[in-house]
Amino acid sequence: MARIAVFPGSFDPLTRGHESIVRRAVPLFDEIFIAIGENAEKKGFFPVEKRIEWIERVFGDLPTVTVSTYSGLTVEYCRKIGAEFIVRGLRTSADFEFERSIGQINKQLEPSVETVFFLTTPEFSALTSSIVRDIIRHGGDPLPFIPIGLKLI
Ligand code: ADP
Repeated sequence: MARIAVFPGSFDPLTRGHESIVRRAVPLFDEIFIAIGENAEKKGFFPVEKRIEWIERVFGDLPTVTVSTYSGLTVEYCRKIGAEFIVRGLRTSADFEFERSIGQINKQLEPSVETVFFLTTPEFSALTSSIVRDIIRHGGDPLPFIPIGLKLI
């Protein structure tokens, strides 16, 4: 059976930290769906269409990586597309505590889905999408933090 993974998040916007996780996960899975969770109550900073376009551009060289959107429970989405793995990145101990509870609850909701964690490489451990949004809001230069070749604006 194909090893299908979902990498869920808001990717608002995609950062070099996300990119690094995806590229490191590629050898482990037959297919990876970068899945943008859509929330009717939370609009997000960048339109979902833009986030999709940037992800497609950055991973255009990787035929096993696809971008998609979903709403509702991540494990439901996994069930729908036949994914048995959820990929998440761990930057800090705070991430660990947060991810541990989500991972344990997801396991209870859907025992067939395994969450796989990647430790962030040190150069990206301080990087979050929300910091990138703040830099943009205040007129700073986001380019060092987003994948090479992308222009967000
Ligand atoms: P969320 O919407 O849950 O905050 P994000 O869209 O920011 O999620 O990120 C999705 C996933 O990418 C999460 O597992 C998060 O830990 C991981 N991630 C975010 N930034 C980085 C980074 N700089 N290095 C490694 N992983 C990261």
